[in-house]
Amino acid sequence: MDGRWDFFFREVGVGCFKPGGASVANDVLHIVKHILFGLNNLLDTRSPSMADACYFCGNTATSTEHVPPACLFPEKKDLDGDTDYRKNLFTVPSCDEHNSRKSTDDEYIQLILVHGYFNNKAGHNHFNSKIVRAMTRRPALLAALYNNADQVTVDGEPTVAVTVDRERFNRALERVVQGLCVKFFAERWSKELEIHTPVLLAMDEPDADKVNSLVSGLSKSIIGCLDGVERRGDNPDIFWCQLLKDKAKDRLLCRMVFYGGFDVFAVSDPRLRGERV
Ligand SMILES: [Zn+2]
Repeated sequence: MDGRWDFFFREVGVGCFKPGGASVANDVLHIVKHILFGLNNLLDTRSPSMADACYFCGNTATSTEHVPPACLFPEKKDLDGDTDYRKNLFTVPSCDEHNSRKSTDDEYIQLILVHGYFNNKAGHNHFNSKIVRAMTRRPALLAALYNNADQVTVDGEPTVAVTVDRERFNRALERVVQGLCVKFFAERWSKELEIHTPVLLAMDEPDADKVNSLVSGLSKSIIGCLDGVERRGDNPDIFWCQLLKDKAKDRLLCRMVFYGGFDVFAVSDPRLRGERV
């Protein structure tokens, strides 16, 4: 275990790394042109009290919540044949506040995640069915995302880039990680988490190139660190994840892959949190 962490920090270079924070206010997402314009291993060690507590705040649970949100997983009516992308979705206990109030954040990350430039066919199909329906029904959704779109070129292909509300994106993904910790470690992660993704690029900041290159390096390091760690999720075309924490419950690494190509990483470590170690 320690070897993994040492490797991680040797690769990442602690001290200079703080992307994903305030300096990256205008991350952008590249949108595939043709789509845009075509418009468990549940631990048995869970204590009874944990089973009754909200995954996010610890208050008494009154319902259950899907992590990640169920809306990310295509419904049967949008799939061919016997395909089922809602097999054994992860659920955790939740209070009312942390089940219903975050639903608009769920809708937001759904909208961002389905646009991933490297998403697989299942992701594209989800966009072309459910998301197109939602945007047709509520044009304001479309306008909110695309009204600041810029024409850009990626790998020689014309496409567009839009500004992403990174704070909201991070907040929603943090909650997913919190839920996964409760699901697989039977405890809430109370320490600060950083959310990073190489799919969203910094563009407008003076240090954008440096930030993008740091995030890219961090991503590769985490992937290497998690090599051999169990991949969890019975619908891997839609979502799978890996989680690793140390015995002292001080450090956490999490990789989440949506639609086969939208990688999101969560890191918690005293060195990145600015604590003395
Ligand atoms: Zn709660």
